[in-house]
Amino acid sequence: MELWFTENHSEGARFSIKIKEHIHSEKSKFQQIDFFDSYEFGRFFTLDGYVMVTEKDEFIYHDMIAHAPMATNPNIKNVLIIGGGDGGSVRELTRYSSIEKIDMVEIDERVVRCCQKYLPITASKLEDRRVNLYFEDGVKFVENKENIYDLIIVDSTDPIGPGEGLFTTEFYKNCYKALTNNGILINQNESPYYPFNAREMKRSHKKIKSIFPLSKIYQFHMPTYGSGHWLFGFASKGIDPIKDFKPKEWLKLGLKTKYYNIDIHKGAFALPTYVQEMLKNL
Ligand code: SAM
Repeated sequence: MELWFTENHSEGARFSIKIKEHIHSEKSKFQQIDFFDSYEFGRFFTLDGYVMVTEKDEFIYHDMIAHAPMATNPNIKNVLIIGGGDGGSVRELTRYSSIEKIDMVEIDERVVRCCQKYLPITASKLEDRRVNLYFEDGVKFVENKENIYDLIIVDSTDPIGPGEGLFTTEFYKNCYKALTNNGILINQNESPYYPFNAREMKRSHKKIKSIFPLSKIYQFHMPTYGSGHWLFGFASKGIDPIKDFKPKEWLKLGLKTKYYNIDIHKGAFALPTYVQEMLKNL
């Protein structure tokens, strides 16, 4: 009998992956965690039935979340990741010897432990000496922190369940305070395509825009996420991902990347007309 994993991408569209094996299933204190092996995407895991990371396409998401801010401000030394329990964001950031410290705050320790077991390549750098793991709510962690981080990455689930607080104005205000003057906030900003994601995309961008002097959106192509068209937010107290982009300095580092490159960096901030219109009068 054929086994398929199916995720609803909208009320009227579903996405299915043919499964070799359902490797692991558990209910943690926070969410339902499942790991699968598949024919097309290799191993992958889901939280509450939504695909988080697959072996085949995770490089796209993690290249874009890490290298876009690093190529804008090569002096980033102190980083905070909120969520990101699979370790992919940490793995990409640890490739920069200039980074001195990475605090990762993941609410659910079980996500980290399962990824270390079933997705060891993604989780491979969680034991880097510069990485400090905190198993806490990221919303609480950023309260009362001032002028500490050069980069905050919100590598979160969708705004339902434990991730909800990571999409609030209060949280973004605390991120603003926790950032240094040249600090950058990168956040998982949903997708413009299907109605649920599009609504959340507009909501979070509106909130961030009301707090940060500079707030932009950039896009990438993610085959296993709803519609395949996904977005990150880039916000700062002034540093601009295009005007302050340092392609020569980034190229000098000689990092090999499978998705990110200096042309993708520039192109990713050019948005389709329908997305520009959705973001225009927020
Ligand atoms: N790449 C993924 C995606 O967009 O589908 C997200 C990566 S990662 C697995 C998301 C993580 O955020 C999950 O492990 C979840 O436990 C964590 N998370 C959700 N809410 C959180 C919170 N309030 N504080 C810290 N971590 C949180």
